[in-house]
Amino acid sequence: MVYPGFWGALGRWARHPAAAEGRYTARRCGNCKVTCKLVSMPELPDITAYISALEPRIVGQPLDHVRLASAFLLRTAQPSLSSVEGNIVRELRRIGKRIAIGVDKDLWLVLHLMIAGRLHWRPPGAKLAGRQSLAAFDFPPGSLVLTEAGTKRRASLHVLKGEEALRSIDPGGIDVLSSDLSSFRVALSVENRTLKRALTDPRILSGIGNAYSDEILHAAQLSPIALTHKLAPEEWERLYAATRYTLEFWIERLRDEAKTGFPEKVTAFRKDMAVHGRCGEPCPRCGEAIQRIRYADNETNYCVRCQTGGKVLADRSLSRLLGSDWPRTLDELEALKRR
Ligand SMILES: [Zn+2]
Repeated sequence: MVYPGFWGALGRWARHPAAAEGRYTARRCGNCKVTCKLVSMPELPDITAYISALEPRIVGQPLDHVRLASAFLLRTAQPSLSSVEGNIVRELRRIGKRIAIGVDKDLWLVLHLMIAGRLHWRPPGAKLAGRQSLAAFDFPPGSLVLTEAGTKRRASLHVLKGEEALRSIDPGGIDVLSSDLSSFRVALSVENRTLKRALTDPRILSGIGNAYSDEILHAAQLSPIALTHKLAPEEWERLYAATRYTLEFWIERLRDEAKTGFPEKVTAFRKDMAVHGRCGEPCPRCGEAIQRIRYADNETNYCVRCQTGGKVLADRSLSRLLGSDWPRTLDELEALKRR
């Protein structure tokens, strides 16, 4: 396979961590004329869609057997994996970006798909074919199969017992959909962060990552690098409303899709998103070409006219400051902003 585009042109693609993680789709950017769209980690609406599809299929069913094709997937030794077998599934929960399957005896199977992990619903006893298949969870009506693209094995499975153990893996961010404006503002203002960083920090907000934060900021008409300590009260209101609206819109949308079949194409990139993954395409609100700030392992998309008062953020002076490279992380970008 050929990986053209930015990293390919610099001869860096092969060394780029995203290549090994299966984080690419062949997609040509209309603005930058490169093909290097990265795939994002499933976020709150995507995880909710998986849970909505799984509930009618496995709740009340016995988990007959768990088959592991990759020993590395399981990150806990006790309770043993065999201790969950034969138990009835009682409940499913989202914990941050993880899916927790609760069975009898307060035992929980907790899956983190990371970036390239995906779930599939297959006929009972489906074979684990190919290197991408990591595990199968066998129920009488079907098998839940976990796959992971790329060569890096990042997806994980924890077997936990009890609420306390479950809490120990929760990064602790608040659930925006059950929070009011003031607790939202307090959580995001603990430190002076860029909005992009604050929205995607799992210790601040639960389940929001790169894709939906782009959508939220576009809906709120706020710059991804605006600082939380400088937001006006009216901007907080807009950000809070946009966060709830965006998540609710996509949850409903993906839930509806999950009614017609198991969500096989889960990705936090959707072609009908407003800005995320749409660099170079027209903004649905104003028609201006969507821009991006790129750092080594990801990118942020935004509209210059709707969000940053006409200012292109990743401009030449920024890149000159950084030498030939873009910031590697949002932390670096944030540090740069504070200089
Ligand atoms: Zn716009």
